Amino acid sequence: MTAELTEGPEATEAAGARLALGLEPGDVVLVSGELGSGKTTFVRGACAALGVSRPIASPTFSLGRLHRGERGPVAHLDLYRLEGLAAEEPGLLDDYLTPDAVAFVEWPERGGALELELADGVRIAAAVVIRHLGGDRRRVEVSAPT
Ligand code: ADP
Ligand code: MG
Repeated sequence: MTAELTEGPEATEAAGARLALGLEPGDVVLVSGELGSGKTTFVRGACAALGVSRPIASPTFSLGRLHRGERGPVAHLDLYRLEGLAAEEPGLLDDYLTPDAVAFVEWPERGGALELELADGVRIAAAVVIRHLGGDRRRVEVSAPT
């Protein structure tokens, strides 16, 4: 696990960008943390590093958005409103979690046992936890999958 203290959104974006550089198609990154901790900020930095030119906002009215990066599709999901994939139709996330895309998932815990739903060629590559330390300070933890 690596942990970093960031003192503003730019530093959290930079942490996302650094992680993104090591990702390959089929990689899924789980991004956890309370509301306002900086999950979308982290994903924004990662997407910029992957060459996504569209602005990155929280996908509030849908489960996810698919962007075009320089090296392939980049999926950004926010499962906040899900109560667990078990209650949803099977294959709900299949359009986003594909072997040719890099994917970032906010609120992955709402997806339940997400790893069990992944198609061949799709894997959890990293788990990020962001902790709000007050003001503009955050602790950004990046772990290999357990
Ligand atoms: P989440 O997706 O976890 O709900 P957002 O990334 O949407 O959180 O929002 C985080 C908010 O906190 C933004 O307004 C951002 O500018 C602010 N912020 C302040 N300091 C930091 C920091 N060190 N890292 C990330 N965001 C920060
Ligand atoms: Mg968010």
